[in-house]
Amino acid sequence: MFEGKFYNGRTSKGMPAFITLEPNHIHIVWQTDAESGTEVWLLPDIHQLEFNDATTVLEYGKFPRQSIAVFEQGFRQALEQQYRGAKFLSSKYNSFLKTGVKGLVLGGLCLLTVAVVLFFWGVPALAEKAAAHFPEDYEHAMGESLYNRVLEGYTVDSAKTVALQAYLDALQVQSDFPIRVTVVENEVVNAFAMPGGFILVHDAILDKMEHHEELAGLLGHEIGHVQMRHSTKAMARSLSHYMLLSVLFGDASGISAVIIDNASSLYSLEYSRKAETDSDKAGLRLLAQNRLDPKGMVWLMERLNSDEPEFLKFVSTHPRTDDRITALNAHIKENKYKTAPNPALEAAWAELKGE
Ligand SMILES: [Zn+2]
Repeated sequence: MFEGKFYNGRTSKGMPAFITLEPNHIHIVWQTDAESGTEVWLLPDIHQLEFNDATTVLEYGKFPRQSIAVFEQGFRQALEQQYRGAKFLSSKYNSFLKTGVKGLVLGGLCLLTVAVVLFFWGVPALAEKAAAHFPEDYEHAMGESLYNRVLEGYTVDSAKTVALQAYLDALQVQSDFPIRVTVVENEVVNAFAMPGGFILVHDAILDKMEHHEELAGLLGHEIGHVQMRHSTKAMARSLSHYMLLSVLFGDASGISAVIIDNASSLYSLEYSRKAETDSDKAGLRLLAQNRLDPKGMVWLMERLNSDEPEFLKFVSTHPRTDDRITALNAHIKENKYKTAPNPALEAAWAELKGE
């Protein structure tokens, strides 16, 4: 007779047990303070879980599986003598079980890796892909709500807004979205585009400009961001995990609601270098279409490439301005640009500058 622990499979508590090896079954008598009982384990339904000189753990039957653990030196030998040739003693089953467990662990790790990669890389990538295919009116409606939310934090300069919109209306613009510009009072030199054609311009950046071609270049750059949906894609990417959650919880309005609720994330958006150079080219195209001096784009960049504090935001969100100026100059050299005076734009510019 051996002493060990009996587990009934329903609780994790081990009960003191006496174990006797009978000719064709193992007999177990267990006992707690409150109750006691006996079990008969028939050999074909026994499996080994651990089988060495110090520790032997055997399992029995189907779920919930009973088990016994014996921490006595002679138990294993006694089992081998008593039940020579029994299935549960063969090491084959044991090694199969071990690889099985190893395989499960490895498989689990692989699955986990895939899940992590999908979550951190796949979800943002998918969200960005989805954002690129938003219907235009959906994106415009979302942009409008976002724009109204963002404007709550600013004071709008109505006179300059009217003048800037007049300047924009005098420009030939190609865009899938109606472009709406708003001038707000802010001493940081910056401007940014929201989804659906809404462009916010700080009055400080207008104050710094000396030629209206710079303004046309800036508008062309921001319209480029709008047209290529950079802010929509970037917001979808950075908010993709919230979006996933809102979709998982069955909130159909999810995607645009998440973007609007996180309007402040607009300020920390960083576009890729490619997004910026593509938008610079869009700015050049707009200048060319309107027969304006393409150098306007370069003047704008040179003016913005400043280390004065009020420029910090622009410089930090538009990295490598030097490289961009070089690229712009190279592009201008390669192409023939024809310029012509544009009285409508000049008048709107004079109005905007209060001259
Ligand atoms: Zn930009």
